[in-house]
Amino acid sequence: MITDRFNRVHNYLRISLTDNCNLRCFYCMPEEEYEFTPASRLMQLHEIEALAKIFVDLGVNKIRLTGGEPLVRKDAGEIILSLSKLPVKLTLTTNGSRLHEFVDTLGQAGVHSLNISLDTLQPEKFQLITRRDQFQKVYDNIQLLLKRNFHVKVNMVVMKGLNNNEINDFIEWTRHEPVHIRFIEFMPFTGNRWTSNKVFTMQEMLEVIGKKYEVVRLQDEKHDTAKGYQVPGHRGTFAIISTMSANFCGECNRMRLTADGKMKNCLFSGYETDLLSALRKGEDVIPLIHQNIYNKAKELGGQFTTDFEHLHAEDIHNRSMITIGG
Ligand code: SAM
Ligand code: SF4
Repeated sequence: MITDRFNRVHNYLRISLTDNCNLRCFYCMPEEEYEFTPASRLMQLHEIEALAKIFVDLGVNKIRLTGGEPLVRKDAGEIILSLSKLPVKLTLTTNGSRLHEFVDTLGQAGVHSLNISLDTLQPEKFQLITRRDQFQKVYDNIQLLLKRNFHVKVNMVVMKGLNNNEINDFIEWTRHEPVHIRFIEFMPFTGNRWTSNKVFTMQEMLEVIGKKYEVVRLQDEKHDTAKGYQVPGHRGTFAIISTMSANFCGECNRMRLTADGKMKNCLFSGYETDLLSALRKGEDVIPLIHQNIYNKAKELGGQFTTDFEHLHAEDIHNRSMITIGG
């Protein structure tokens, strides 16, 4: 078991397959020109397999593949099929643009549920946020997955003044389709133009929704980061990920492996452990994993608190989201 100083058991690993992406979401990538990590410095298929297996032997029973965009990696299909042989619930977070090429592989790998990011239902705004003209492709792929009976969670990062006016359009989407919307509070990362006044909080979201709909609170599972709700009679549901205004660190069971093989014990942790170099040198990585988790802070990487009003993103010692793996 991988346990920290606060008795939190860590059984959920998020593996970033690459820091490369075919979109350019401004809230995820640094502003300046960004050079993707060369393939030789990324974990190779056999290294991902080896590290994943070590984590599974230590108690991990859920693995999420992420990035960057996991599906731009050439061997993404092979990685998915290989990890699906482990005794874990395998899932992924994707921008959805390439899902049509992977839908059969995902079925074959037994992946039933996945998260697809879509921050707006307006094509022009999609272009503004992602700097790419891919709205229709992503939207069509969501429909394709729904048709194939996948459990589809749609991640929407809510940013004040940009897309908070679309919250009820997303709720309306749940009326006739079994989509599960996850409204995410905007989080600060290195170089992502975050300011506290762009955070649209859970409280604000619930007010907007409550003005138009009756909502019921759903029962969450133990380690859920999202607080679930449903409009009675709607086929889909919605949930809110309130990292900034009401964090869920007390129940955290997550660990992260960046695409270049560094272990992070928290999305906001400035502390990293280089598992890939150790693995390449033939060293035992198990003590490194335990040591990393031993150093886990109580909340938010020890870098800020829910009182985020005076926080400056550049004061947080971290990477940009695209190099961490969300
Ligand atoms: N490329 C994939 C995608 O877009 O889903 C996977 C990687 S992406 C970094 C993972 C998730 O993090 C996405 O849902 C994205 O919207 C979210 N994300 C990125 N930057 C964020 C931020 N600053 N605040 C909140 N969520 C963020
Ligand atoms: Fe790419 Fe996902 Fe980041 Fe957007 S959020 S730039 S799709 S990794």
